[in-house]
Amino acid sequence: MKTLKIAIQKSGRLNEKSVELLKNCGLDFDNYKSSLISGVSNFPLEILFLRDDDIPEYVQDGIADLGIVGENVIQETEVEVAYLQRLGFGKCSLKIAIPNSYDIEDVSELSGKSIATTYPVILGKYLKEKNINAEIRTISGSVEISPGLGLSDAICDLVSTGGTLKSNGLKPFCNVMSSEAIMIGKAGIENHEHVQELLQRVQSVLRAKETKYVVLNIHKDDLGKAIELLPGVKSPSVVPLAEEGWVAVHTVIPENDFWDRINQLRQAGAQGITVMPIEKIIF
Ligand code: ATP
Ligand code: ZN
Repeated sequence: MKTLKIAIQKSGRLNEKSVELLKNCGLDFDNYKSSLISGVSNFPLEILFLRDDDIPEYVQDGIADLGIVGENVIQETEVEVAYLQRLGFGKCSLKIAIPNSYDIEDVSELSGKSIATTYPVILGKYLKEKNINAEIRTISGSVEISPGLGLSDAICDLVSTGGTLKSNGLKPFCNVMSSEAIMIGKAGIENHEHVQELLQRVQSVLRAKETKYVVLNIHKDDLGKAIELLPGVKSPSVVPLAEEGWVAVHTVIPENDFWDRINQLRQAGAQGITVMPIEKIIF
């Protein structure tokens, strides 16, 4: 069977997390910054290291079978690819931002203004949807300095913490799209046996990230209360302790409401709570 190719960013914000994800899937490859392509020694896959902007088209055209890239880039390039898996990293928002001194409240007030961006396609669709007649100034980078230089009234750019906006005297005004890294594939590739295998591995790594393995000690009399607080994969394992009347409970807890759960368990009588990261969860 033909060796699959997956395209990931060569360097930049998505490179490290993409490499980490593939390594956590058990793939063994060299991550030399100088090479364009790297073979995987223990899976029929090759990794292409590319600029993120090129990834969607390479996947659409079948030069790569799979790719990992930000949803913002996929939408901006308007390609036809299959969304195989949201990956939960590279989270950011494409926002319209305005100078701090600007006093506008409604998006409709952007009519007649100029907005600098490297995302003319996404911004154009957004403005059309909202019926706003603003001028889009497409530039190739350093969008955030454009109002200060008098090149535009506002900007539309990717924001994660908002620090860059702040240091350029800008404030976020409205959200155009939210984005994260996505695994994409050329149409139909999701049925390929090795793609299904890889996706299963990816999902098991993502599930493990969302949960923690917890072991706690509790008196048998309080066990019922504690079990009600623990969903577990199926149900928690309960192991007797050497000390009469006490048991150890092994379970997994979702990361999102982790501290609430732990505090409730302590109130229910849990002691010696030990929390461990999980590598993979395979159903
Ligand atoms: P390349 O050299 O590959 O073209 P780039 O400079 O265009 O890289 P990066 O800045 O590395 O791109 O960003 C890659 C992706 O990371 C973005 O397209 C976006 O999906 C995501 N991202 C997450 N947070 C941010 C942020 N604060 N600013 C920009 N991109 C972000
Ligand atoms: Zn880029």
